[in-house]
Amino acid sequence: MGVGTCCGKHNRDLKRPSRRESTDTMHLAEKLNNRDSKIHIKSDNIQKYYDVEWEIGSGHFGKVKRAFSKDVKISQDFAIKSIPKSKIKGRVELLQRELGSLMVVDHPNIIRLYEVYEDKHYIHLVMELCTGGDLFTQLLEKGRYNEGEAARIIYSILHALSYLHSLHIVHRDLKPENIMFATHDANAEVKLIDFGLAKKFITEDCLLHTPVGTSYYVAPEVLQNNYGPSCDIWSLGVILYMLLTGKPPFNGRSDLTIFKNILSCSYPKEGSSEWESLSEDAHDLLTKMLNSAPQHRITASDALNHRWFEKRNHKDSRVIDKIIFSRLKKQVYTNQLVKESMKLMIKYTKEEDISQLNDIFRELDQEHTGLLTPSELKEGLIKAGISLDMETIENIIRNAAYDEGDKLDYTAFIAATLDRKLLHNKDTLWLAFKQFDIDNTGTISIENLKEVFNRGGKKIRKKELRKILEIYGIDENKGIKFENFCNIFQKNDEDISSLESVYSRRGPEKSVMDSNRV
Ligand code: ADP
Repeated sequence: MGVGTCCGKHNRDLKRPSRRESTDTMHLAEKLNNRDSKIHIKSDNIQKYYDVEWEIGSGHFGKVKRAFSKDVKISQDFAIKSIPKSKIKGRVELLQRELGSLMVVDHPNIIRLYEVYEDKHYIHLVMELCTGGDLFTQLLEKGRYNEGEAARIIYSILHALSYLHSLHIVHRDLKPENIMFATHDANAEVKLIDFGLAKKFITEDCLLHTPVGTSYYVAPEVLQNNYGPSCDIWSLGVILYMLLTGKPPFNGRSDLTIFKNILSCSYPKEGSSEWESLSEDAHDLLTKMLNSAPQHRITASDALNHRWFEKRNHKDSRVIDKIIFSRLKKQVYTNQLVKESMKLMIKYTKEEDISQLNDIFRELDQEHTGLLTPSELKEGLIKAGISLDMETIENIIRNAAYDEGDKLDYTAFIAATLDRKLLHNKDTLWLAFKQFDIDNTGTISIENLKEVFNRGGKKIRKKELRKILEIYGIDENKGIKFENFCNIFQKNDEDISSLESVYSRRGPEKSVMDSNRV
């Protein structure tokens, strides 16, 4: 069968593995050190805030339902995963691991977690909703993908893996059911979900010793109980093989046969019609991903540079253009409140509004770490015909970064480059306001601000917060009302515009920005 042809709806070689296969092998002896990735769980009735409607999926831990905010000002839909407490009895650390991992990650191809509620019987995770379905269902319908289509999907997931691995997080349960399409659009962003088995490991060479995963996708070293992040690359290699051929590479009537084939790395290659129909580059990448020796297996970052990805179906708009760059170079945070609020707002932006920026971010991030360095930005600018000295570029990054660091993370890049009209509109501002108004009083108090800053890992003194309120003429005792909140952003935009004139005369010097920071 030729590349890109479809096998129709009933693909006999693909079956959805039962959950037993995927979870029986779990062993939870590993203790999670999640000091730095704690999540705030709201002990409140979720029904007060969301209408939880129909089921859109179910997994080992519980059902996932589509939900709508009861707040009429919030038009966005959500996915709520409700986990019965009885299911997590004694396995709280497993759940904490999922939440902890999701809390620290910031990437366009990883599902966003908004908030977590707890009631007597359940833990509810409020997540970004993916409406495009999962990759497994799409694969069953399509039969197989052509190389261009597959390259686009695998490239995005590799990008997410490269980022996760650089943070020392290994997903460990990569399978097509855990890859979702954000929307039904043909070029929809793909999102990695289900961090139930993800494990934060301490160093690159610290190997894990717990057999987990789903039989088709499990790496040989996982079966031998000695594995690290490269087990994700193996699983993604299996997925790539399935997308291109419509068949799992390691198959068998029982798990035991599948495992035997995995351990001997025996899968249909030369001589099989599906394999022969693929390009040389596809053969090369698959062989490198399905290398049974983890130490010789290609890394996520090297795989992203493989020439097969030149086939990827992509849009033309990946190069940073002058308009986007002009927004980036103007970005400066006039105070901490604006900065934290922007972070919250970006979490709620619509996929269609940021898809071009996501492409640009991935393109600029040549080292695939999820963080833009000055030299990566310089190189990207050269491609766009903009030549700047390194010092200027470093200053631009420092001004736009959340921690005034020397690298720009994904959210900070989007916050800096997104059209302000999309960000500073009443709907998005309201969503950010609601995040600060923890006790739902309709006003944000100094205590609320301090708490939200703390949750975001930022220690801020009340004195500093009072100073910010003073600038905007807000009475501390009355708190910040929604109108005040909107005014803060209007004033921030005005301040940035007035800085621009200084900026364009003197260049983006640090002193200009510092004099405006609180
Ligand atoms: P579990 O961890 O319990 O196995 P998953 O996270 O895998 O559960 O979710 C189960 C199913 O619910 C998924 O296969 C998918 O179909 C659906 N689902 C999960 N998260 C989302 C989401 N954010 N948007 C839309 N559907 C989702």
